[in-house]
Amino acid sequence: MTRKEKKRQEREEFIKENGIICLNNVSKSYSEGNAALDNVSLNIYPGEFVFIVGTSGSGKSTMIKLLLRELVATSGSVHVMGFDLKKLPRRKIPQFRRCLGVVFQDFRLLKDRNVYENVAFAQRIVETPGREIRRNVPTILATVGLAGKYKSRPRQLSGGEQQRVALARALVNKPSILLADEPTGNLDPNNSWEIMKLLEEINASGTTVLVVTHNSEIVNAMRKRVITLKQGSIVSDEEEGAYIDED
Ligand code: ADP
Ligand code: MG
Repeated sequence: MTRKEKKRQEREEFIKENGIICLNNVSKSYSEGNAALDNVSLNIYPGEFVFIVGTSGSGKSTMIKLLLRELVATSGSVHVMGFDLKKLPRRKIPQFRRCLGVVFQDFRLLKDRNVYENVAFAQRIVETPGREIRRNVPTILATVGLAGKYKSRPRQLSGGEQQRVALARALVNKPSILLADEPTGNLDPNNSWEIMKLLEEINASGTTVLVVTHNSEIVNAMRKRVITLKQGSIVSDEEEGAYIDED
């Protein structure tokens, strides 16, 4: 077995035992004193659908940034896909991020490119051959219900449509994990439900899905695992949980 194969096998074994996302006693401080995350431990296994809830400032986005390796934990360990993110060399970060799809509240589309280009761009970055891009992009746009809008610019689309473009872009490289930080924060209830239904379908096809949200109605209706953060700590973690309103 080559060194590379051995490492892959070790990662697979780690995932089986500890999850595809594993936080062990993780704290993150931006400055001396108060911690944005305070001694958080958490295991999420492949194929799970998990909501992260909590009031503003409770550390939800900090957790997402740690998982993306945008930030490094002040103490404790973060493993994603079996990679120890503290030890991950800088040159390996792009390869690591390819296994992750991400969507944000504010969509973050390229405003001067059309829908097709916004999605194709994600494939060009990872050097997908042109022929595959021309096959993959229409397929993923159809999945999110935007087959007819491929020539539109973001400003010609509703918020719900823009978020579906962002979702298509996040999924086109077939990530193992989808991270969504308040994906429905700028959407009306109907569009919020459409996005959540898509996230559920994506999860049903095998992708691990982690959704940060404030939408208590959706959380309560969907009966998924719910992890609640309060001032940087996990205060509850329930299978088929509900939104605990602290406001
Ligand atoms: P949430 O996403 O749950 O609203 P965040 O993870 O964004 O919470 O923030 C958690 C805490 O960390 C808050 O007290 C926030 O003010 C602080 N914080 C977040 N980002 C920074 C930063 N870049 N610099 C300093 N403090 C930050
Ligand atoms: Mg946030």
